[in-house]
Amino acid sequence: MAKVAVIGLGIMGLPMAKNLVTAGHQVTGYNRSPEKAQELAQAGGTAAGSVAEAVKDAEVIITMVPDSPDVQDVVEGADGVFANAPKGALWIDASTIRPDVAVNLAGAAREAGIRPLDAPVSGGEQGAINAALSIMVGGEATDFEAAQEVLNGVGKTIVHVGPSGSGQTVKAANQLIVAGNIQLLAESVVFLEAYGVDTDAALKVLGGGLAGSKVLDQKGQKMLDRNFDPGFRLALHHKDMGIVTAAAREAGVTIPLGAVVAQLVSALVARGDGGLDHSGLFKLAHELSGGDEK
Ligand code: NAP
Repeated sequence: MAKVAVIGLGIMGLPMAKNLVTAGHQVTGYNRSPEKAQELAQAGGTAAGSVAEAVKDAEVIITMVPDSPDVQDVVEGADGVFANAPKGALWIDASTIRPDVAVNLAGAAREAGIRPLDAPVSGGEQGAINAALSIMVGGEATDFEAAQEVLNGVGKTIVHVGPSGSGQTVKAANQLIVAGNIQLLAESVVFLEAYGVDTDAALKVLGGGLAGSKVLDQKGQKMLDRNFDPGFRLALHHKDMGIVTAAAREAGVTIPLGAVVAQLVSALVARGDGGLDHSGLFKLAHELSGGDEK
């Protein structure tokens, strides 16, 4: 069992930290707003008052913050992970960030004597709560092996996909697939409702065929209920569509359908819906067909 520090105890980080406690690890958590660290303390972990304090004795450090600049904030600088973690510690960045930033930070980590893995996750809040995340890991194979025990405490499908940055590249593809799926599911629900079909029955049978998906299972009912509580916020998916669009352009790859969905996500964020779950793509799909979600 390991001494683990978790930095960023939000929708994903807090349940992941709690699951690591359940798995028997010694877990210290830091969160920018301190209340969430208290929640970890109540679950058997320890609350730290700073990143430096959280990582000072850690064997494994997990960062779980929103975006590339946030990861840079918590790992770089005099108060950050690289300057304060013991040499040889494993740093697992579970945040979804730009692959190029992940590569640069991995280089900086190695210079500081820290072993980096980019390990973004998929499976949503429920996957984090159930310790059932899918984890796509980039970095050295030996470091991946060393991280297995801790990753097993938060995930079920854990795959080494290549060198540093590869995890983030695979996650960018994941976000492209998920956004496209949600948009088509939203359009299908709008279509079914226009015909007055029994939508519960329709989603049940669609879920059993080729149209079935985890997106349909997890997001279909939310659309029928008009319940867009997050979950995964549209603002974060907007970030991720920016990541995949830029990375595709960089590689000389075109993603026409993804580009359209990226614009729809962008429209929702621009009008103030960025705090909704990404199933909130339904609202815009409905409105484009004359529906009124106000
Ligand atoms: P979240 O609920 O917004 O939590 C983010 C946490 O990071 C908060 O506790 C926040 O602290 C902290 N934070 C933000 N900026 C920071 C900074 N500059 N320095 C230090 N701490 C900072 O986000 P989340 O949904 O857990 O997502 C975290 C990451 O996981 C994102 O990269 C996201 O794309 C990815 N992800 C999310 C899901 C999902 O379903 N939610 C699924 C897969 C992957 P405060 O409490 O002070 O704001």
